[in-house]
Amino acid sequence: MIDLRSDTVTKPSAAMLQAMMQASVGDDVLNEDPTVQQLQKKTAAIFGMEAGLFCPSGTMTNQIAIRLHTQPQQEVICDKRSHIYLYEGGGIAYNSMCSVRLLDGKRGILSATDVEASINNPDDIHAPQTALVSLENTVNKGGGAYYTLPQITAIREVCHTHHLPLHLDGARVFNALTASGDDAQQYGTYFDTISVCLSKGLGAPVGSVLLGSKAHIQKAMRIRKVLGGGMRQVGYLAAAGIYALDNNIRLLADDHQRARVLGDTLQALPFVSEVLPVDTNIVIFSLKGMSTQQCLAKLAAHNILAIAFGPTEIRMVTHLDFDDAMLDRVTNTLRNFA
Ligand SMILES: *Cc1c(COP(=O)(O)O)cnc(C)c1O
Repeated sequence: MIDLRSDTVTKPSAAMLQAMMQASVGDDVLNEDPTVQQLQKKTAAIFGMEAGLFCPSGTMTNQIAIRLHTQPQQEVICDKRSHIYLYEGGGIAYNSMCSVRLLDGKRGILSATDVEASINNPDDIHAPQTALVSLENTVNKGGGAYYTLPQITAIREVCHTHHLPLHLDGARVFNALTASGDDAQQYGTYFDTISVCLSKGLGAPVGSVLLGSKAHIQKAMRIRKVLGGGMRQVGYLAAAGIYALDNNIRLLADDHQRARVLGDTLQALPFVSEVLPVDTNIVIFSLKGMSTQQCLAKLAAHNILAIAFGPTEIRMVTHLDFDDAMLDRVTNTLRNFA
């Protein structure tokens, strides 16, 4: 079976499992797990940030960040394709009691001008107070589009002028950095908080890390507790994250290359009307003359899994457990559809 539904489907490698087995652990709710501490420090250091907090999921790290930066009745600015808006169960309303201002970025990439135009007048009591700007990098629903540093800098400046914090949903931030060649250390100077997923392209079975200042992370621990995210001897999982950071970031470029080949193959097929530009490891394409269900069923008949991503769109995501031989099988299968 070739599973291209998401980069979350990877299984830990033998070497990663070995690292997990050898972890030293303690009760992390009491701050006594050395491996968790090591992972938090290591991730924070990569981005030049003060502190980190290990959480069970990227949904939790995002939701903690939103809760951290807002008060009820306020508003969060994000793109209309954002994971925090579309795929976190209405958590912005449920956990933080805030409204959202949805922008329509280019493939989910917001411009500083659009962000500035959507900040409410703080003196107008009719309007919710703008409290947070949240970016996603790469943009999942934008087909893996990524921000460059000048784009981020311009948004940071707007936030600075209006005294607004800036959060990054960096579920695939290492894909973004791999594609842009930008320096992770710069991110620490632009974002107030960053959510990093270890369970996407990096191949760990579980976990995300929220990064921020010491004060933010101290407060974040309280919010994680109330969400039920305090874990005990969780160093076994943190060890997988450390292994992933040490070994798997460098492999993301291969995922991007394979995704490009998939995109080029799809582009040439008569039943594909459009392929979003393939910038990282996500391929989103639209069908013509064939329904999404038909296409997925045909793929499944060849033991290939993809996912419906809209009425006529399909998404394929490349990852650690998808190699060149599998790529050949997928491209040959697609060509033989026609
Ligand atoms: C996967 C993902 C998350 C976090 O998802 P979890 O499944 O909760 O770990 C957040 N943002 C984006 C863009 C994602 O793709």
